[in-house]
Order: sequence, then structure tokens, then C-alpha cells
Amino acid sequence: MKGTRAPVRLPTGFAGADAPDGWPRLPRTPRPERLDAPIEALPGVGPSVARRLGKVGLERVGDLLWQRPRRYEQPVPSRRICDLFGDEEAVIEVVVRSVSSRRRGRLKILTARVADDTGEIKATWFNQPWLEKRLLPGTQVRLRGRANKFGFAVSSYDLDGEAETADYAPVYPASEDLSQKKLRELRSHVLGLARDAGEPLPAGLRTGYGLPLRADALVALHRPRGLDEAETGRHRLAFDELLVLRLALARTAAARTRTSAQPLGPPGELLAAYRSALPFTLTPDQERAIEELDGDLGRSTPMHRLLQGDVGSGKTVVALYALLRAVEAGRQAALMAPTETLAEQHFLTVEELCGELGIRVSLLTSSLRAREHKAVRQLIASGDALLVVGTHALIQEEVDFRDLSVVVVDEQHRFGVGQRSALAEGRAPHVLHMTATPIPRTLALTVYGDLDVSELTVLPANRKPVITRWIPEERASEAYRRLTRLLREGRQAYVVCPLIEQSETSRARAAEHETERLRAHELREFGVGCVHGKLRTAERRDLMARFKACELDVLVATTVIEVGVDVANATVMIVQEADRFGLAQLHQLRGRVGRGAEQSYCLLVSRPREELTESAVERLDAMVETTDGFELAERDLEIRGEGQLLGARQSGFSDLRFVRLRRDQALLERAREAADALEEEGLLADEVDRLVSDAEHLGES
Ligand code: ADP
Ligand code: MG
Repeated sequence: MKGTRAPVRLPTGFAGADAPDGWPRLPRTPRPERLDAPIEALPGVGPSVARRLGKVGLERVGDLLWQRPRRYEQPVPSRRICDLFGDEEAVIEVVVRSVSSRRRGRLKILTARVADDTGEIKATWFNQPWLEKRLLPGTQVRLRGRANKFGFAVSSYDLDGEAETADYAPVYPASEDLSQKKLRELRSHVLGLARDAGEPLPAGLRTGYGLPLRADALVALHRPRGLDEAETGRHRLAFDELLVLRLALARTAAARTRTSAQPLGPPGELLAAYRSALPFTLTPDQERAIEELDGDLGRSTPMHRLLQGDVGSGKTVVALYALLRAVEAGRQAALMAPTETLAEQHFLTVEELCGELGIRVSLLTSSLRAREHKAVRQLIASGDALLVVGTHALIQEEVDFRDLSVVVVDEQHRFGVGQRSALAEGRAPHVLHMTATPIPRTLALTVYGDLDVSELTVLPANRKPVITRWIPEERASEAYRRLTRLLREGRQAYVVCPLIEQSETSRARAAEHETERLRAHELREFGVGCVHGKLRTAERRDLMARFKACELDVLVATTVIEVGVDVANATVMIVQEADRFGLAQLHQLRGRVGRGAEQSYCLLVSRPREELTESAVERLDAMVETTDGFELAERDLEIRGEGQLLGARQSGFSDLRFVRLRRDQALLERAREAADALEEEGLLADEVDRLVSDAEHLGES
């Protein structure tokens, strides 16, 4: 130590502006890296729990902080056993006397005799067999649930403390293999890290709007003492989201104003021929949408329009109109679908319509053999292929359009801004986004900012709403009986196989297996075909043709029939294990029937109600109650939280978790004002970057 001294550090300007690495961390400085740690870093999370968490998008420690509770438990009274009244929800504090278990079908029922000073009651749990070992006689437990004629049905319990059974305990989106208890327990570990989430709002802005600190908001969200506290927390987090969203939109809008497009002249003979080739007249909504996009195409700013309408509302006809506008001008048009299967289905539809007009349609997907792929790419590059249908492979770098003028992006929630802007490089094409998952206009305007919206609200022809029934699987034979009766009357049907999370290959195998089973049993007397994502285009085309020609009575299918299949005589659909499907997906599936004048039926078969998650029950109820896509979209908002709505993904901005649009109109306005007033993005820049880059990477995976 002698003679040597640590070098004196001279301040280099203001503290913090360019602090050297060596300075000690100030106490309470946020450490975001702790939230970036993999979720396995938490106690009680091994590889298997981590995998289950990963399946619902919880991968990093911080993800737990940002998961919004679906709701909070109601406050309920604490009761002595002798005071339990009717079937009111209550909390009891009791001691276990004895415990036993039994099975009823697939349901495992655990029963404990529990007592307090005033009496004894039989408490029951469903499907938690491992709990038996922990409910030793003499154990103190706190139970929340309802008294019924058999005893006390437990909804949550605490063996220690009162976290689970507390009033306003958060209720997270649990799944079959991820219990509410686990989700709550993990939360208690991460709440201590709430400060590591940082505070990106400038203090003046935050206090100006009377918003709490972000860390406090997170704690309030996950451990509120009352609903108003939870709401204050949510409100603050929603503000951040909206602010970041507005900043991101400002960036992309600025980029768009720097591009320009070639205007197209008015529609001419080809479009007239197209109209007269259609076997029907366009609905007023379709006419209006066409008028709107004709307006866009005549301008030198690129079209940036969303065409939304329910399943079966006739979007394809309008989309093809837009594509043909480019073709008529001798320029190129592309239709992009999110998956290979969808691209192929679109190709078949478009090809059929274009055949009559003498227009060649090219298909480009990555399943083409290398030689064919190259050949199509060359046609695209030389400008000889005018109308191209494909997946997002279309905008990969090696695909080089000579003169791309109009692009239609179907189901574009699976495409990000990045891909759109990749398309828009150089001379920007006119872009029409098309979605069958309608989103409320307010949401569309929020997430897209400056996007124009055309809506098809009235369905073509006078179709009867599909009758939907929810049938538990013990009674599945009823569904098949009804199916058989309708088939004998000459109708056709779809049977949709369960959505198991497996590869396309094993899903295909399962569908084939199910087809064999149905051929041998329920559907012996009928012609049954099987479509899945592993069929080659020619095979699928052949099957569909045979189904259309009534040579097949039933199509057993994976979700590949979700979009694009159009057979008016198919009036029944059975969806197996319907509880596994999302609401939007069920709605899409149901859209395959009810396309003609006959009454159609959709039969949703699921496991028994009491084995389903709360949100699965809500989804199936919603399907039975309404056929209206907008209504279902709103329900989906409620069930899943706004952010996970497919619609929100549509912009690529998938992160709206806390915003409740109907409730947050004023907040939206404030966030817009704040975004305009901010001189620079400051600490929010990182979050804006992340949002924009998430959006850019969507669909690349
Ligand atoms: P979407 O893509 O919106 O689900 P489609 O464009 O596939 O709907 O149209 C659904 C069905 O309605 C198709 O069979 C289509 O030919 C038919 N269709 C479209 N427009 C009309 C119309 N104006 N009148 C009658 N049928 C129509
Ligand atoms: Mg369609």
C-alpha cells in the first residue's frame, strides 16, 4: 500500500451523465437484470414448472410482474361453521379431523372432515390428490368456499397465513397444469423486485397526472387492499402502455410520411369484367369498401387501410378487387397469408375467380421445391407474374418484385410493422390489411393510429344464424346422432379434431386416426375424408373438390379448415374438445357452416364443465350465446384482457395488457397529449424500441 494511491477520479460533468463503471451502485437503484433472469431463478421453479410457465408466455422473472390478474376475489365474511348460511361464499378457520379421497369418472374428489369450536363439516376439493398428504389430522387450515348440501366446496385454502383466501386475492389465468396457488406463490417472490422495473416517467409528468410510482402500481396490482387500489395500479400501468404506444406510432407514422406511391387510374374494363363474372351482386358494404379503396389507390400516398368484417362477410371479393386494380394497370399485386395452408387456400379461391378473366396467378410458398421456387421468383422479378399469392416468404429478401403496386395482407395480426416496411422499401405499394377477427373501431384507431378502416357489417344474402350447442363429452353420442340425421337428409358436415399442442405432423396423424375411428363407428354409412396441414396442395384440392361435389359427406379436419373453405351444403360442425380452442378460433371455425340458406348447427363437445378453467367456460358460454363477431371480440377482450386480443396483435403491438379501452378513453387522450408534449423519449426510449422491434420480429419465427 505504500506510496500508491488510488487514482483520483475527476467528475466528468454531471453525475450520472457519463458515470464511470466503477462507481458504487446507489441504494435503491433499479436492477433490471434481476427481472431479465430466467424464471427458473425463482425458488420452487424447476425445469418442469418452467416449461409450463413458458407455455403461457412466462419466461423471465419480470414476466410475472407484468401479468395482469384476471380479477380479484370478492371480500367475503369469516364465519363459524354453525353460522354458515345458505350457499354464501365465506371463509372458515378450521382444524382437519380426517381426510379421504375417491374418484368419479376422471374427477378426483378429496374430502376432509374439518371442525371449529362450533361444529364439523365435510370440505371437498376437486382434482388435487396430492393435497391429501398435507391435510394431516390436526392441521390448521383457512378455507374459502361455499357451503352446499354435501358440505363445503373449497375454492381456495391456506395451510399457513392467509394469502390465498384473502379478500381481493388476485386471480391469474391458471391452466390445467398451472395452479392458481402456484401462480400466487411465485408472485410473492417477485413483488420484492418491483423497484427493479424502474421509473420511466419524468417526475413532473407523473405528478402532473396524479399517477403513482410504477413500482407501487405493480404492488397494488398484485396485492391490493381493495379494488380501488388495484384500479389505481392498473391505471398507471395502462398509462405507460398507451404513452409508449403513442410514441411508437409517432415513429412509424413519421417513417410513412417519407414514402410515396404511384397512383392508379380509375378502374376500367378488367374490373367491369370481374364484377360481371361474380355470381352475385355486391352488398352495399362491399360497394362502399371498394369506393373507399378506389379513392386511396388514386393518391400518391400509399394506401394504408384495414378491411374488417366478420367471417363470411365477403372480404375476399373486395380484396381481389384491389389486387385486380394493380393487374389492370399492368403492375404487380400480392396477397399474403400467415401460413402455407392459408396461402394455398387463397390461391385456390383466387385462381378459380381469375381463370374466367384469363389472368394467371402464381403461388410462392417455402414448401415449393427449390427449382420451382426459383422459377416463380424469376417471374416475379421480371414482372411476368402479375398476381402472386404467398406467405410472408413473399417479402423475404430474395424475392424481388419488379413493380409491386398493391398488397393485401390477410389476417395480418401475424405480421409485424417490420415486414410491412420491408415491403414498403423503395417505391411503396398500396397496402390493404384484411382481418376476419373484427376489433372494435376504438381499438383499431388506438393501435393503428393513422390507419383507415373499412367495415363489412352486413352479411351477404339472408343467412340464418348458426345454432350452437355445448355438449359435454359423456353426451357426445347425441351430437353424432344429430349429425347422422342431418347427413341422411343430404347435408354435409365437418368434424374438427382437438387442438393438441403438437407438431403439424402428429396433428395430421391424429386426424387420420380419428377419421379411421369414425369410419368404423359413428359414421360407418357415410363418405368421410380427412384434411390436414400435411397434405400436398393437389391432394387437398382433390379432397375439397370431392367434398364440394358431395362425393364426401364429412370432412374430418384439423384447424386448417379455419379459413377459406366454402361449401354451402355443409351445415353441421362438431368441434371436439372445444374447450381447448380460443374464442376467435372457434368463431372462425363456426364460420365454415351457415353459408347457405339451410339452418346450420355447431356442436361444441368438451369435458365436463367442472373440469374446465373459468375462461374456457366463459368462452363456450359466449359461443352459445352469440354469433356476432364484434360481440365475441368484445367478450374476448373481457376474458383475456385487451392486450391478448388478436386485434391488438394486428398492429404488431401486442403488449396492451392493462388498457381497458372502454373505461380508459380519458386516459388515452391524456397519453396522446403527454406523448405530443414530450420533448424526447428519454427513459421510455427503451420501451418504445422494444415495442417497435417486437412488432418487427413478429411473424419471423
Ligand atoms: P370472408 O373472407 O369475409 O370470410 P368470403 O369472401 O369468403 O368471406 O365470402 C363468404 C361467401 O360469401 C363466399 O362464398 C362468397 O362467394 C360469398 N359472397 C361474397 N360476397 C357476396 C355477395 N355480395 N352476395 C352473395 N354472396 C357473397
Ligand atoms: Mg375469407
